[in-house]
Amino acid sequence: MKQLRETDLGKIEALADIREDENIRFRTFLKGKNSEDVDEIVHRLHSEITREIDCTQCGNCCIELNPEVHSDDIERYAKLDGISTEEYKNQFCEKDEFEDNICFKNRPCRYLKGKECSIYEIRPQNCRMYPYTQEDRFISRLWQMLSCYSMCPIVFNLMEELKDEMRFR
Ligand code: SF4
Ligand code: SF4
Repeated sequence: MKQLRETDLGKIEALADIREDENIRFRTFLKGKNSEDVDEIVHRLHSEITREIDCTQCGNCCIELNPEVHSDDIERYAKLDGISTEEYKNQFCEKDEFEDNICFKNRPCRYLKGKECSIYEIRPQNCRMYPYTQEDRFISRLWQMLSCYSMCPIVFNLMEELKDEMRFR
């Protein structure tokens, strides 16, 4: 039977420090591979790992990240608070570092209750898709994956199992 995946956030963070150089080498190694072949393995690992790792027992991305929100989300959330969209944007949103997108500004996210999202059914698209390991073109998002490796158990386990599957070590 396959051993259980790592979900201890403290251990994952410590291993990310230890494996920083290895991960950069792995990124270079993957860059030379066929993108579709890598996606096929990544998608399979994504389904296996997400069956085992329960995001409702983690919630770390809701503590560590500021997801992008679209104007239709903002309208919906402003209504929940009984305020105008302008007021909502001023109080709870900010532009991202590139000044391109609007994101939630509170960390942890104000909708995180315990380890669960209190607006789960209407959460932003960015939250629905995170950590994007079900998407195509994994190789084109390797920097993003490396930045999520230390804080998201799905990404951590997927990268580690991908190293084995690709015979990186
Ligand atoms: S909206 Fe929900 S899923 Fe998205 S960051 Fe906030 S708590 Fe997490
Ligand atoms: S996506 Fe990753 S960081 Fe977010 S709750 Fe799930 S396992 Fe945790």
